[in-house]
Amino acid sequence: MALIDGMSRLLIDGKLTPGGAGGFATVNPATEEVLGEAANADAVDMDLAIDAARRAFDGTDWSTNTALRVRCVRQLRDALQGHVEELRELTIAEVGAPRMLTAGAQLEGPVTDLGFAADTAENYEWTQDLGHATPLGIPTRRSVVREAVGVVGAITPWNFPHQINLAKLGPALAAGNTIVLKPAPDTPWVAAVLGELIAEHTDIPPGVVNIVTSTDHALGAMLAKDPRVDMVSFTGSTATGRSVMADAAATIKKVFLELGGKSAFVVLDDADLAAACSVAGFSVCLHAGQGCAITTRLVVPRARYDEAVAIAAGTMGSIRPGDPTKPGTVCGPVISARQRDRVQSYLDLALAEGGEFACGGGRPADQPAGFFIEPTVIAGLTNEARVAREEIFGPVLTVIAHDGDDDAVRIANDSPYGLSATVYGADADRAAGVAARLRAGTVNVNGGVWYSADVPFGGYKQSGNGREMGVAGFEEYLETKAIATAAN
Ligand code: NAD
Repeated sequence: MALIDGMSRLLIDGKLTPGGAGGFATVNPATEEVLGEAANADAVDMDLAIDAARRAFDGTDWSTNTALRVRCVRQLRDALQGHVEELRELTIAEVGAPRMLTAGAQLEGPVTDLGFAADTAENYEWTQDLGHATPLGIPTRRSVVREAVGVVGAITPWNFPHQINLAKLGPALAAGNTIVLKPAPDTPWVAAVLGELIAEHTDIPPGVVNIVTSTDHALGAMLAKDPRVDMVSFTGSTATGRSVMADAAATIKKVFLELGGKSAFVVLDDADLAAACSVAGFSVCLHAGQGCAITTRLVVPRARYDEAVAIAAGTMGSIRPGDPTKPGTVCGPVISARQRDRVQSYLDLALAEGGEFACGGGRPADQPAGFFIEPTVIAGLTNEARVAREEIFGPVLTVIAHDGDDDAVRIANDSPYGLSATVYGADADRAAGVAARLRAGTVNVNGGVWYSADVPFGGYKQSGNGREMGVAGFEEYLETKAIATAAN
């Protein structure tokens, strides 16, 4: 790996620096081998990073120089594209991402999407003229100005790290903010390379982007609490999101949250059951189920429950978890021993709750090393079971029976989460009617794809606040100022 030679560095105030707490190992989840060391920041580093971001926002023209920002975001995209093959190998090695996914959301998609953020800033109507009026009898000219929020603290997880890091960096920078990025300790290098490319291949001024890798989750909490930070943009679990929101409360900073999910795949009774259930089974295996929007509850007509379970198990039982470097691998490892054990504890819980496995149920015998879990179908439970209500974040599908469209909608919506959903049905109008009743931020009908730079993504209920991507995702990083000038 030429971008990082065994040791990565922090980016603080434009300089690549070692971590105050030394280094920590980053591990290949498919082999359990140590790839090398990441810089381990301490609280002093985080303080310096916040200070640098604050000074860059307050003391430079970054927030008002749109042309500079557009150029810089495009430079970052070009630098990433220029190193895409090295980044691909790094992503496969550190994230355990199957090679095939690096052509999309695991790498190339979010890199290309930086162009959307730059284009949005370039074409944005920063000032809107509302014209003259006489509110309270006083002749006034009114305009509405959109401007950057200020210093953004970005806190990200490990599952799709390029996608999540860049879907924050791109719009936040294009909108005129400065940033401190604190990535997950499980995937530090994919964030650290951003620091190296920014420092060496872009005109992004010192302090505008700071990248702080660390094993210490408390550095994330520092970002949420610090009065110098104007906004915290968090992606991760709902439990941590709750803590971030509480920490941000003292300073009333803007809080943007992309959290967990337990999304439903609803199969209506006129659907092609074989097609629907095999798509559901296949998609839960992608990246070993470590996607917040993956549909992990398969909600099928009661009369065809056994058939649906058999189809899903046929698909998932035929997908062997394995080497993510191979082009044909769909299901790689989960990120860590901790995550593997967490998934296993949910599998144990499924049995304790009275469920049964139609396939899978544990660690694959043919993978002695690496954090692998067999694709698993859980049958025989209702939507009340904990494995149907809590996020497992592994290749695990729970199949639930419904008694018609109204009941399917009730079950799909009976969740603390509301991130995504899928509906399959032969009658397109009926399927669209069901989709309209689902309380979720994105809905796929009959295989439609919502993942795209111009489509807002985010959650209802405890899946989050706000939207990432699309123009809505750009506007999350803007304040709104109304200017009223007395006129005669
Ligand atoms: P996590 O919540 O454990 O950690 C996320 C980040 O928060 C990490 O950088 C971590 O260091 C940091 N952190 C931990 N404690 C903190 C605290 N008290 N204050 C501030 N920061 C803190 O999540 P994870 O295990 O890394 O990722 C998996 C979770 O992310 C899943 O729940 C998944 O659904 C969710 N996720 C959501 C989306 C989305 O867009 N909705 C996308 C991807 C992942």
